[in-house]
Amino acid sequence: MTTAAHWHALAQATTLPFGHFIDGAYSAEGEDTVAIHDPARGTLLQDAINGGKAMADVAVDAAQKAFQTSSWAGCHPRERGAVLLKLAELIEAQAERFAILESLCTGKPMGDTVGAEIPEAVNSLRYFGELPDKLRGETTASNADTLHYLLRQPLGVVAAIVPWNFPLNMAVWKVAPALAAGNSVVLKPAEQTPWTALLLAELFVEAGGPPGVFNVVTGRGDQAGKALAMSPKVAKIGFTGSTRVGQLIHSYVGQSSLKTVALECGGKSPQIVMNDVADMDAALDAAIFGAFGNAGQVCNAGSRLILHEAIHDHFVEQLVERTRASQIMGDPFEDTTTLGPLINRAAHNRILGMIDAGVKDGAELVLGGKPGSDSAGNFIEPTIFARADSSMSIAQQEIFGPVLTILRAKDATEAVQLANDTSYGLAAAIWSGSLDTVHRMAAQIQAGVIWVNCFDAGDMTQPFGGWKQSGTGRDKGVDALMSYTQAKSVWMALGDL
Ligand code: NAD
Repeated sequence: MTTAAHWHALAQATTLPFGHFIDGAYSAEGEDTVAIHDPARGTLLQDAINGGKAMADVAVDAAQKAFQTSSWAGCHPRERGAVLLKLAELIEAQAERFAILESLCTGKPMGDTVGAEIPEAVNSLRYFGELPDKLRGETTASNADTLHYLLRQPLGVVAAIVPWNFPLNMAVWKVAPALAAGNSVVLKPAEQTPWTALLLAELFVEAGGPPGVFNVVTGRGDQAGKALAMSPKVAKIGFTGSTRVGQLIHSYVGQSSLKTVALECGGKSPQIVMNDVADMDAALDAAIFGAFGNAGQVCNAGSRLILHEAIHDHFVEQLVERTRASQIMGDPFEDTTTLGPLINRAAHNRILGMIDAGVKDGAELVLGGKPGSDSAGNFIEPTIFARADSSMSIAQQEIFGPVLTILRAKDATEAVQLANDTSYGLAAAIWSGSLDTVHRMAAQIQAGVIWVNCFDAGDMTQPFGGWKQSGTGRDKGVDALMSYTQAKSVWMALGDL
């Protein structure tokens, strides 16, 4: 059997999870349904349940009850860690099932789900599974008649709202540290991609997690998502998604109750390649991966390439040639496919509109620009604009598709100015062989994450999050675990001996 035939057979045999997962069981109650279409083939895959406010409230109540009555928050931290480690093992054992569920609804090439998305989620669970008993409080210096110490305690009910571009990973980045710290969780996946979230919660119970500690409510953002952000019983909202919805989350929280808000939002991340770049081949590969990985549907996509004028023409020529050779659209189940479709028709049409705007604004279209030849799927050719101006919409807005905009800089100072000339500040990459250049640029670029002579590198120890309109929170790392705890100060008067 070819690999594609294997995946097609497995897809046929895979049952799609359906409903919400609340208090340890599936429930199919809801307002109405949301159609999930196959982005690569256009066919209807499932009418998923839209939970709405009612089911979001039911899930929050289940989480609150479990926080108050189950052993989760109060058990030995190593017991929580053991459940997360077991969950990682269960996912690993069913990696192909997770990968199929992820590829079917997102259109991601199987190489990406099997090779990156699923193993990354397993790594994240292992990282946070090993952390719970490393949490520490503090004692402070005080008089002999006082003992003052700080306890780190869980927040209570955490609501996590996540997007569709890396459904499992984005969920695990929030759910794992929140659970590790002893909280109960309600997760709302994006309406297009609920399945791996549901399976994750189901396996949490199989791994020994108490029912009600980890719940999933599926449905539309402006109904179920809004209800979670408005709920007075939720102590923290961890949100990953667009800047527009991030702003709405703030407004909901302002109208309801005081709760902690952590936002991981959009980006328009620069990759700067200087004239003294040491490894031009690696920079070219990174430019392609940065722009077209996951069809450009990546928060930290390197969608603004800033080239030093001395290497500009050669780099663009090489980039076009290599992109043409490496970015192959097609069936996500085929080994040869490297460029998947856009998530839905609306995104497809919006991005074609942005490409038209780039042409009208006067940028030079050096590659692509058209829909893919398979009209049933939401494909768009890998598209490259050169000689753009930083003020153009293709240079300023998050396109979230396979579109790369190239700007030209005469020197390092102008490159930094261009890098910072955006409302976003998620990530940036610098390619240069000069230590002076990279350290000075790294200090001056306004972004939460800087890569030097690499792109999208790192591991679970690296806090990930944005500056400016890219967000306010940090996922990954020990900081993420701490962000799901709160400090309690205990001031104790000591009597005489
Ligand atoms: P989105 O903002 O449309 O949706 C994200 C989530 O919010 C979904 O679950 C959605 O249902 C929910 N939502 C939508 N409207 C809501 C509302 N009114 N109230 C509450 N919840 C609501 O984003 P998307 O299209 O799913 O994802 C793409 C965006 O996510 C891009 O902007 C991308 O940059 C961003 N993203 C950021 C990171 C990061 O770590 N910074 C990672 C991945 C994606």
